[in-house]
Amino acid sequence: MGNIDSTGNGLYVHVPFCTKKCSYCAFNVSHNGLHLQGDYFKALGAEVLHYLTNGPFELRGVGFDTVYFGGGTPSLVDPSLIADFLASIPLAGGAEVSIEVNPESARRELFTSYVDSGVTRVSIGVQSFDDKVLCYYGRTHDAAGAERAIELAVETEGLSVGIDLVYGSEVEDDKSWSRTVLKTASLATGISHVSAYALGIEKRTKLHYDKAKSQSEDVLAERYLMADEAFEGCGLQNYEISNWACTDGRCRHNANYWSWGDYLGVGLGAHSHFGRSRWWNDPSLKGYIAAVKTQGTGFLAGEELVDSQVEAERLMLALRIQGGLSEKELKTWVSRTESEELLGLFEIVNGRASLKPRGRLLADGVFRALSA
Ligand code: SF4
Repeated sequence: MGNIDSTGNGLYVHVPFCTKKCSYCAFNVSHNGLHLQGDYFKALGAEVLHYLTNGPFELRGVGFDTVYFGGGTPSLVDPSLIADFLASIPLAGGAEVSIEVNPESARRELFTSYVDSGVTRVSIGVQSFDDKVLCYYGRTHDAAGAERAIELAVETEGLSVGIDLVYGSEVEDDKSWSRTVLKTASLATGISHVSAYALGIEKRTKLHYDKAKSQSEDVLAERYLMADEAFEGCGLQNYEISNWACTDGRCRHNANYWSWGDYLGVGLGAHSHFGRSRWWNDPSLKGYIAAVKTQGTGFLAGEELVDSQVEAERLMLALRIQGGLSEKELKTWVSRTESEELLGLFEIVNGRASLKPRGRLLADGVFRALSA
């Protein structure tokens, strides 16, 4: 592991099942494999056990500090599988356990059973409060369903509630995005976290095959700034470029990724990171289950990072989060360039540097300039 100190104790659990594929989705999902959920969860449990027994991932302390069930649609699976899985792994006291929920799965009993199993936060895939946009994304819920799901989650004692949004489709105009942003802000007394990502049209998605377009960079920038202003105005502070939260609503699991912390990823296509090592799993459902049966893990391939990769990745992530660099580190990076004006894109608070809102829009360019 060289001179890289390992930190972080996160567990990512990929749950690949979805009822149908959304038009923009490039994730590893299975829309006809739900009947294999029992076998899949057996494989997940076996894979965690294998790594804890054989490495290379090492747990520091008594258990995982954070667990994140992502997908896919984890809320589609039988909640007893989630409960049994959580009961079978070592969890640290006060662990944060998150699960992604699609609005159409939301039921009061589902949320209660999650809390009883140890889940502490849900992330609801709202995406938009405009039915026209939801239809374009191929989502299986409407805006009213999203609101109902949020209400039920917020009413569940012991659950912290976040929502996910996507902006910038060609069918969305300023009015539509403004409605989504204002509706989100109006719910901010109940929700503690919002993620908002610009639509990316990736290969092998329906939107890509349809030759769909997203909005121009300028429009995306205006939409981002509109969201930032509204969310900050209702007490949800930006802590990563695309994420806002109230003080105790930040997602510790994702914060660990952004701090270049270690995590174990289990499930098909899941990625893991420990020290300088990074590895990833077989991306097919049957291939993953078979691989765990024969070799104990879904391991497909991996790599060892060299110093220059580590430095570049740490910088890229540090630019995304609030206070990600010390003032001294920022000045050292900038002094290696001939672009002193880059400093103007940052604000310094208590010796820590963060990109200002307009600077965040240029984060990729700032990274390229600093790391050139
Ligand atoms: S619900 Fe999420 S994971 Fe499933 S197809 Fe839609 S975007 Fe992809």
